[in-house]
Amino acid sequence: MRYQTRVEKIDEDLIKGEKLAELKEHQAIRLGARLLRQGEVVAFPTETVYGLGADATSSKAVGKIFKAKGRPQDNPLIVHIATKNQLEQVIEGGLTPAGRRLIEAFWPGPLTIILNKSELISVTTTAGLTSVAIRMPSHPVARALIEASSLPIAAPSANLSGAPSPTLAEHVLNDLKGKIPLIIDGGPARVGVESTVVDVRNDIPVILRPGGVSREEIEETLGFEVRVAGGQEVAEGVPPSPGMKYRHYSPRTPLILLEEKERDKIAEMAEEYSNKRIGLVITAETLQELNNFPENVLVVRMGSRSRPEEIASKLFALLRRLDQSNLDLILIEAIPEKGIGAAVMNRLYKASTRE
Ligand code: AMP
Ligand code: MG
Repeated sequence: MRYQTRVEKIDEDLIKGEKLAELKEHQAIRLGARLLRQGEVVAFPTETVYGLGADATSSKAVGKIFKAKGRPQDNPLIVHIATKNQLEQVIEGGLTPAGRRLIEAFWPGPLTIILNKSELISVTTTAGLTSVAIRMPSHPVARALIEASSLPIAAPSANLSGAPSPTLAEHVLNDLKGKIPLIIDGGPARVGVESTVVDVRNDIPVILRPGGVSREEIEETLGFEVRVAGGQEVAEGVPPSPGMKYRHYSPRTPLILLEEKERDKIAEMAEEYSNKRIGLVITAETLQELNNFPENVLVVRMGSRSRPEEIASKLFALLRRLDQSNLDLILIEAIPEKGIGAAVMNRLYKASTRE
């Protein structure tokens, strides 16, 4: 099915002022809620990245998300809710003390928890799993839309599968024009990387995917160390989180991640690829140390190593822009895996061409 894709912009003042009641009456959100109730898909802003939502209780509706994105059927979706009370509807059984503490500390916000699913949630949403991923986003437009629809909303990022996630309505339009009926434009996504996914079914939570809430923040809240699911499970062919096995977030241009120990070789590497047009993405600190770049190198700043939040918020827009700059190769500097820097590095590892 081809759609005439509509883009409806929401006023910044309504978003900044978190005017939920007014937002729920906004014509774009009413239209979005109506489409969702009719089993259609709608793209909307969240604080992490733009999401592509559908009724999480309907296999038919959720099937349209997989189709529009070209997403593998075995990669489950995160279910978005508008209030903590809505959690009961979508899960079976209760919360562990740790699960409850995490929700209290980080909801609404960029934290997704894994629990056992209720009957209400379609198995298409969870890709056949008996568990479900749930998040309560903080973005006022997302909350107003979910509330207005009166549904739990399944929503992955609103990009073509494999491409960098969208942090602007324009990115969604570039990827999904003609494939979806509506994009609600709420300006740039603030966090810029996806939510942290945490399995809270056992007493010790396990981080399945680093994201907008850092491991440090989680451990500080809980007062003990959590487990981080690593490469081991994936290498053994049992990914704890099905999405982990896919290449992801990638620009079409080959991308090489420069490890910290390679930082002083940057100039050398640029020389090595002197027959290629190179986009060299470096931190403000590295830029200060280097000068005189060869002519084939386009230097792009990615912000300061000491402010990973800023790097995260612009990361995907940067990858998309580089893809349109006619480059043969992107060289990108690694940043410290501290705080949200861990999520940035996770995305860059997955985007990179070199193993
Ligand atoms: P995305 O929607 O593209 O941000 O991806 C959602 C992520 O959450 C993927 O990495 C999934 O593997 C993960 N996820 C969703 N549901 C589950 C689940 N029930 N168990 C484990 N991981 C999940
Ligand atoms: Mg995604």
